[in-house]
Amino acid sequence: MTRRLVHIVGAGLAGLSAAVKLASQGVRVSVHEATNQAGGRCRSYYDPMLGMMIDNGNHLVLSGNHATLAFLDKIGARDQLSSPRNAGIPFVDLSTGGRWIVRANDGLVPWWILDPKRRVPGTRAWDYLSVLRLLRAPEGAAVSDLFDCSGPFYERLIKPFLLAALNTEPREGSAKLAAALILETLAAGGRNYRPLVARDGLSRAFVEPALRFIQANGGKVHFGSRLRGLTFDALRVAGLNFGEAPMRLQASDALILAVPPVVASALVDGLKVPTEFRAIVNGHFRIKTPEPTVSITGVINGTVEWLFAFPDRLSVTISNADRLLEKPREDLAALMWQEVAAITGIADALPPWQIVRERRATFAALPRAEALRPGVATRWTNLALAGDWTATGLPATIEGAIRSGNRAAELITNKT
Ligand SMILES: Cc1cc2nc3c(=O)[nH]c(=O)nc-3n(C[C@H](O)[C@H](O)[C@H](O)COP(=O)(O)OP(=O)(O)OC[C@H]3O[C@@H](n4cnc5c(N)ncnc54)[C@H](O)[C@@H]3O)c2cc1C
Repeated sequence: MTRRLVHIVGAGLAGLSAAVKLASQGVRVSVHEATNQAGGRCRSYYDPMLGMMIDNGNHLVLSGNHATLAFLDKIGARDQLSSPRNAGIPFVDLSTGGRWIVRANDGLVPWWILDPKRRVPGTRAWDYLSVLRLLRAPEGAAVSDLFDCSGPFYERLIKPFLLAALNTEPREGSAKLAAALILETLAAGGRNYRPLVARDGLSRAFVEPALRFIQANGGKVHFGSRLRGLTFDALRVAGLNFGEAPMRLQASDALILAVPPVVASALVDGLKVPTEFRAIVNGHFRIKTPEPTVSITGVINGTVEWLFAFPDRLSVTISNADRLLEKPREDLAALMWQEVAAITGIADALPPWQIVRERRATFAALPRAEALRPGVATRWTNLALAGDWTATGLPATIEGAIRSGNRAAELITNKT
């Protein structure tokens, strides 16, 4: 009898985490990726304009992202994540020139908010407690229904945090998703929200070690393998069509569909998925910096929202960036560089640059999107879904994608 085979379609982090989990349990996996590279929205590539490897976008995870850290432990890549060198996160307000560092303490009791030198200027200790209101969020509520979205506490701390995590205007964002983030980070103590960055690139941390792990455990990975159609029996997926001879599944075989929502809904009739998306724009500038590893700076009242400094480049991130999609690239680069110069004090002329616009970076984390996120199980016994857009309880993040892949793998092992 042939051993069962689990096909995993889509080699983003959801698909890779499902494959890693199953392969580590001795299950035979076959990963199919449409492009010639794994990693999906979280990958590195060689950029000819800069003449160097860069990431499609700066990605930050938090020290409390337990599924992400467990995934990295399993594939042997935890040491690829660095905590930015600064103790705390520096912020700059470009409208006033004000600078401060948010320095949380590690423990559960946030005594740092009692110390005016450690908390955000212009805020009071009880402002911080007001985020707890979000924890009572009813279904369908937006952040602004429960929380006062004005004043220094919002503008200087909550807005940058939620904008980065929801990739959606925070006022309109889902209060439930904001609450989930706050529960797992701000309310869980400083040791859970230390930022972590893939020092040598996303692919070296998340993707290449995962592929090695899958292959070392007997799994196969196929690139340029685009799933074009599925055939269904009453209870099961019966076949996969990659554009060659259709592939029939054996009775014990299963499928994890870890593709973006638009692709999943085209493959599975009647599947409801989120339909609104938001862009993220990144600007990369090749310039030597004094940074030994990586540092990050939050920016208030600028177009730039976060500045990442690597030893060989400066890189900026702008979330919820649909307004910038039609702006000429040259104008964007010049605007970003002007702000980078103000933040860093670097007076050099515009160095070699690249602008990367991810149009559908994430689904829009609006209250109405929550109702459209399916669970991992489907009505077909051998089909599970994975992806940051499934009902993970988190916004579209690495942590959500990895958790969804784990759940899909668990479902397939338990059910079939
Ligand atoms: C610029 C940017 C910045 C971000 N910053 C952060 C951050 O700081 N922190 C954070 O936690 N998250 C961040 N995210 C979100 C994070 O990248 C995603 O949540 C995560 O990578 C999603 O993984 P996924 O596997 O669900 O989906 P994807 O990465 O989209 O993977 C889907 C895969 O399926 C493949 N595919 C599609 N169609 C087919 C087909 N028919 N057949 C076979 N394969 C197919 C695709 O090529 C892709 O590889 C950011 C995203 C972007 C774009």
